[in-house]
Amino acid sequence: MSVMTTAEWKNILDRVRTQNPALVRGWFGGLVPVDLCGGVLRIRAGNLKQVRYLDDACGSAFANAAQQVLEQLVTTTFETDAPGEIADDDGYPLSMSENNQLQLNEDYIFEHFVVGAGNRMAHAASVAVAEALGQTYNPLFIHGDVGLGKTHLLQAICHTTRSLNPSATILYISCETFANHFIEAVERGAMNEFRYHYRHVDLLVIDDIQFLGTRERSQEEFFHTFNTLHQAQKQIVLSADCPPAEIPTLENRLVSRFKSGLVAFVDAPCMETRMAILAKKARLRCIEVPEDVIEYVATHIQTNIRDLEGALLRLDAMSQSSESAIDMELARRALDDDSQRHAITIQHIIDVVTRYFGVRVKDLQSKKRPKSISHPRQVCMYLAREFTSHSLEEVGGYFGGRDHSTVLHADRTVKKMVETNDKVRRTIEDLRATLRARQNGAE
Ligand code: ADP
Ligand code: MG
Repeated sequence: MSVMTTAEWKNILDRVRTQNPALVRGWFGGLVPVDLCGGVLRIRAGNLKQVRYLDDACGSAFANAAQQVLEQLVTTTFETDAPGEIADDDGYPLSMSENNQLQLNEDYIFEHFVVGAGNRMAHAASVAVAEALGQTYNPLFIHGDVGLGKTHLLQAICHTTRSLNPSATILYISCETFANHFIEAVERGAMNEFRYHYRHVDLLVIDDIQFLGTRERSQEEFFHTFNTLHQAQKQIVLSADCPPAEIPTLENRLVSRFKSGLVAFVDAPCMETRMAILAKKARLRCIEVPEDVIEYVATHIQTNIRDLEGALLRLDAMSQSSESAIDMELARRALDDDSQRHAITIQHIIDVVTRYFGVRVKDLQSKKRPKSISHPRQVCMYLAREFTSHSLEEVGGYFGGRDHSTVLHADRTVKKMVETNDKVRRTIEDLRATLRARQNGAE
């Protein structure tokens, strides 16, 4: 067991503050690092409310900052000595019971979205929908390649709805969460509860609906959910990586429902928009970037906006570690490092897997064992073995301090499932394809 130095902890806090200004709260100064053991950094907060906030919103911000400072793979857990009710809910695993605790990124608001030729229509439609639920375009279906702002727009609709109409019931979920809830409801014989949950909302937002194509029984259920909401003039917003008709194995009746409102396309941003986005992101993160560097980065990174942001963060990290300002020389060095740009990290894997299964990172790193959590966790470990060169210990440490035999077991279990279970094989193929696309620069 070891605890870091005061300077290291201060450095971590500073990075969290500069890299995630929207997350930072005044009481962060009172956080205390307890120990660093097996790759797990334990951080103590003042009370349970703070722990909840940290768990929900700040896990990856602290983990990333700690990784940069300590130069090792780190995961974080938050705890408190202060008395309070038990925070852990090992019972019903998925977020049905969490209802309207929306898992929204506070940065994904309309004010932070740069409008350009490629996204003008999708943006205007999103604003119109948020300002008059169920009365303009219903459903609103936004499609386009990865990293072009679909999730940002969907969440901005939720934020605006919440502030214009605090009593509106909003449900923002991934397609996998819907499908998982459905299967669990069937297994538990709780279809009434399920239907009540999904059919009594004012705004239903489902991200990455293309995954519904592979879920036959969920399609049937979603068809009825859709019709009930639509007839009641409740707003439905969907996103996908392709237009409705191109979603593989999606039933025709759903394709026609999805096309019945407005289908809006988000295209890759032009040079001018890329520069505006970079300038805005730099301002939001309080990173000082000269105009010529903005132009250089926007010229060299044309794939998507996530990559633009990645480049900005890399510039910031390099400038902090070399204690020099961001300039053209630093930008050339940062962008020439091609191998780094496309390397798959454990963070990418977690990102892709959590989105696919609709689970939270903190669940993967917790001690929870229900299958809906342990299976995605094992899939992460399996993919981490395939795509990264981390040791078994490092991977185990990242998932809540598990030991190497757990990782080995996960690796073997998933390998076996891939050979014997078609559904798991398809899931792994989907996930691999998404990761490879990122590796090849498509994401
Ligand atoms: P998608 O869901 O299409 O894969 P995201 O919505 O996750 O893409 O966007 C990836 C990143 O790019 C996010 O951090 C988002 O804030 C940012 N982004 C995308 N489009 C814009 C835009 N027009 N203006 C500002 N930021 C954007
Ligand atoms: Mg998205």
